[in-house]
Amino acid sequence: MTLGNVGSHIFFMTEKQIDTGRFDDLGIKKNFLEILKNKGFEKPTPIQHQVIPGALEGKDVVGIAQTGTGKTLAYGIPLIQLLSSQKGQGLILVPTRELAQQVADALKQIGGSLGLRIAVIIGGVSSRPQIKDLRNNPHIVIATPGRLDDLMEQRQYRLDKVSVLILDEADRMLDVGFLPQIKRIFKLAPANKQTMLFSATMPSSISSLASAFMKMPLRIEIAPQGTSAENVEQEVFVVSKPDKMRLLYSLLKTYREDTILIFSRTKHGAKRITRDINDAGHTVTEIHSNRTQGQRKASLEGFSRGRFRIMVATDIAARGIDVKQISLVINFDLPDNSEDYVHRIGRTGRAGRSGKAISFVTPSEKMDIRKIERLIRKTLPILDLPIIAREPVSNFVPDRGVPTSRQNFGGQRRRGQGQSQGQNQGRRRNFRRDRQYGRSQARGER
Ligand code: AMP
Repeated sequence: MTLGNVGSHIFFMTEKQIDTGRFDDLGIKKNFLEILKNKGFEKPTPIQHQVIPGALEGKDVVGIAQTGTGKTLAYGIPLIQLLSSQKGQGLILVPTRELAQQVADALKQIGGSLGLRIAVIIGGVSSRPQIKDLRNNPHIVIATPGRLDDLMEQRQYRLDKVSVLILDEADRMLDVGFLPQIKRIFKLAPANKQTMLFSATMPSSISSLASAFMKMPLRIEIAPQGTSAENVEQEVFVVSKPDKMRLLYSLLKTYREDTILIFSRTKHGAKRITRDINDAGHTVTEIHSNRTQGQRKASLEGFSRGRFRIMVATDIAARGIDVKQISLVINFDLPDNSEDYVHRIGRTGRAGRSGKAISFVTPSEKMDIRKIERLIRKTLPILDLPIIAREPVSNFVPDRGVPTSRQNFGGQRRRGQGQSQGQNQGRRRNFRRDRQYGRSQARGER
């Protein structure tokens, strides 16, 4: 249901209020409808319901929608249908390598049987195979702006064939400093192209970009700006920094059946958390900018296939993570800005499932929680710390009944002696790590 129709092209709606009808009513061709049905997509999501008809008519679109709303296919379906019946090329710009790969997978899933050729152009890996893919005249190029700009400089890629330009997660592209490259791409691409821009938030920098480079865009907003996923239950613990790890151990025990994504503010923090919970016997992997592209891919795959129950991530690296079974997001550290909170919790409760988000807040960060509450227009419940979280860390580590690698190589200990030493070592180690963690946080490394 449309709540308001301001001007001729603006719709405001929330997911719950819309009857999203059927894919058959949106102007999608029969053979494509068949493919969607075979892939198990029964009904359009609200953003798909609103975007697809206008996009198929060639209109420019500004979509305000979080990840998890089905926005990839909202632009992917019209893009593939348009390119199957007319000349031209689709160019999709995304902020991260992971999102590029994820978009490619989503589009191959529905366009693969139609012979769709896709080139994925991302940094961190050799450009040679990418140049080869570009020479193969792909229907769609999915790129991070940095590498695409490099290849344009090297005259390996030209924009003259681009008939549809899509910016996905535009707010994040601006956050990571891609505005100059994006402006350059807008200026060099053919003037008569169709443009679609998707963003979770609409800061003034994005509105200005849209008004400078787009033609009367159809503006579609799914859930008011900044609203966090409706089906995510959110909770807060106020906890001092040295106690965060104990609280985490305790939660990992309580939520032992869940698939968990943990956010750290810095890459050093992410490493440390990963190492500690691995020591405590959990299956865990990490994703941040200190890992190579190959490692990031392996982590993501291992996490989505269930080899790792837990993944620890920084904000930038986590963009594009679409693992449906994530049932719990833990904010070990609060993000730098409130918008990132919305992105983080959007990693759970995807595609209509319910999810939970738990945030650790130090006493000095209480104001940050107020800011988040203002943005999401909700009060977050503050829970009492579980008793167990006040126990020494060493109480958690031997709990698994499987020896840690250190215990394995350390030989047998006499019982009483080993336990007290272990506890003391645990406390000291914990203290040291907390101090290191504090230092890397102060350096602000991701
Ligand atoms: P996105 O917001 O594009 O990242 O999509 C989130 C998830 O929703 C993806 O796993 C999609 O496969 C899934 N999805 C997209 N469209 C639909 C649909 N119409 N019905 C069910 N699931 C969908």
